[in-house]
Amino acid sequence: MSAVNASRPGPVLVLQDLHKTYRLGQHVVPALRGVSLAVQPGELLALTGPSGSGKSTVLNLAGLIDRPDAGRILLRGSEVQALDTTAATLLRRDAIGFIFQGFNLVPVMTVAENVDYPLFIANLPAAQRRARVAEVLQAVGLQEHAQHRPDALSGGQRQRVAIARALVKRPLLVIADEPTASLDSVTADAVLDLIRAQAHALGTACLIATHDERLLRRCDRVVALRDGVIEQASLPNADYLADHQADHQAGRQGLAA
Ligand code: ADP
Repeated sequence: MSAVNASRPGPVLVLQDLHKTYRLGQHVVPALRGVSLAVQPGELLALTGPSGSGKSTVLNLAGLIDRPDAGRILLRGSEVQALDTTAATLLRRDAIGFIFQGFNLVPVMTVAENVDYPLFIANLPAAQRRARVAEVLQAVGLQEHAQHRPDALSGGQRQRVAIARALVKRPLLVIADEPTASLDSVTADAVLDLIRAQAHALGTACLIATHDERLLRRCDRVVALRDGVIEQASLPNADYLADHQADHQAGRQGLAA
């Protein structure tokens, strides 16, 4: 994790005054017009807003998949918005876990192989990989299914595999795009509980784009976008603040810096 100091205190992710414009032929589409936010260790921050408000653009920029036209992105205090493609790919591999609505599992690989894949790519030693995969599969309650293929599992179980795959490398940041959209409400609640438990245990910051009202109510903070700007941002909920007062104070100082 060369470009980033993982143990530095303060927010995991800071977005400062991000601007992004897409060009479609002659048309110029302003997607983000000055978005700033910070996500603290262990915090679940929900990003909401109508279709076209800029949620995916924020996720793509925070996930180092795309670059802003202007503004800064700090991961653990290090600026990352201008990294070249190779450095961004390595940082994404080591520090960021992704959870998608459609799970994106590899159908010909077993559950354990799917979860192991990020560790394989990162060249971790085999024994360490085996231990980590067993641990995370246990955490998501899927150890019995380790040798099954994804098509033998229910939707909720597949999303738990995707969560395990995102968390197995112990990322600083998890980016989730509508993670409960294809799940029934009981399963969606269980999936969110799982993300929350893991985020709190590992100090992982989670940035979650969602329209799902139940999920919004249960995240630590909600930021609503409209037309590429933040329309409304809630205060952190009381439970979260009680557990993370110090992180939040450090985060505010980090933002002011
Ligand atoms: P959301 O995820 O909230 O639906 P997006 O971030 O996808 O919003 O889109 C924000 C705005 O940027 C929209 O007007 C959308 O049409 C536009 N946009 C997004 N991606 C592209 C792209 N690749 N090319 C052109 N316009 C885009």
